[in-house]
Amino acid sequence: MALPSTRITEISESDLEGWEVYTEAQKRNHEGADVLMVCIGDHDFPTPFNSVEACKEALDAGYHNYSEIQGQPALLEAIAKVSTKAIGMPVTSKEVVAMPGGQGGLYASMQAVLNPGDHVVIVSPHYVTYPGTVRSAGGTFTLVPASPDDGFQPDAAAIEAAIKPNTKAVMINSPNNPTCAIYTRESLEAVAEICIKHDVWLISDEVYWSLSNGQHISPRSLPNMKERTIVIQSMSKSHGMTGWRFGWIITSEEMAYFFTQHNLVSTYGMNDFISKAATIALNDEIGVNEIADTYRKRGEVFLEALQGANGIRTLNEPGGMYFMLDIRDITNDAQKFAFDLLDAENMAVMPGDSFGPSAAGHLRISLCQPEEKLKEAATRLRRFAANYTG
Ligand code: PMP
Repeated sequence: MALPSTRITEISESDLEGWEVYTEAQKRNHEGADVLMVCIGDHDFPTPFNSVEACKEALDAGYHNYSEIQGQPALLEAIAKVSTKAIGMPVTSKEVVAMPGGQGGLYASMQAVLNPGDHVVIVSPHYVTYPGTVRSAGGTFTLVPASPDDGFQPDAAAIEAAIKPNTKAVMINSPNNPTCAIYTRESLEAVAEICIKHDVWLISDEVYWSLSNGQHISPRSLPNMKERTIVIQSMSKSHGMTGWRFGWIITSEEMAYFFTQHNLVSTYGMNDFISKAATIALNDEIGVNEIADTYRKRGEVFLEALQGANGIRTLNEPGGMYFMLDIRDITNDAQKFAFDLLDAENMAVMPGDSFGPSAAGHLRISLCQPEEKLKEAATRLRRFAANYTG
């Protein structure tokens, strides 16, 4: 019998463990329960009007054809401009390659740096697709915990200890999903030093860079890191364009050539009319400040409403569109807490350990709800936590 490859059958393994609360909440919603959902990271608002208009105009103008495989020239210029701002040092249009979303960039990066059997160190808690993305390139990985007691900053000594002779890359994400930690210069310098010492790539997922209150630092800007860092970028979060599937990678000119070859055989380049709209959205920064302000305000509102909640601690100065709440003073079993919360208060949160064991005893709250709903979520959570006995 013709069989699928193990590469494809082993992509997912059990990565979706920990999503049971979300799945159950969705099921209840379909049955009419009206669960207050603060679990998933997708904007609750549409893509900004001007970006949508730019796309409609591009469609009407007949941009229906194949695009350059690396990305349309004007698009690459726009990407380079935004990348220069995001990284804090010059990035040229020859150092970027358009990708179908940040996820496309993550996937291509693993294809670009791993041979079958190679190893990756993933700093964890981590975004749920990372393990499968490594496996899909025939790689193996070690999850290296970042501790809540260090504000979920990466632990350089633990990263170094996890490096093996076949390690090809370290994978980090700042601002972080799910922890909201923004990696400090010191943390990044320590990670960079290890990458240089052991001669490995640094895969730096920076898709939340614009939601950092200006605190984002890219490791690509650190000394001797430009050539060995592959940055993953996306318009999903910054420009409110999750469904458009538009992102890019930032790398060296040499690697950009190989990534372009990868695009040739995987996507054959990006969509024509979306590339036109993306160019305008990038050049005009459509929605970027407004979206960042929206999430900042929502974070403030949620925190304010949660003040004084029994046994719940928050990380300071979060970035991204989530909050990680530390409930270890109440329980370490965040999964049970989340299920009990769903039953008692009809609201759904993500247990922290869905994203890696070091986030046990935490809850991830998504800010993808209007302020009033977030206030309501905080009220229900406070009420529930006050009497929770496990
Ligand atoms: N990285 C992280 C950390 C994410 O949270 C996400 C999406 N939630 C992605 C990458 C992929 O985003 P996209 O493919 O929509 O750009």
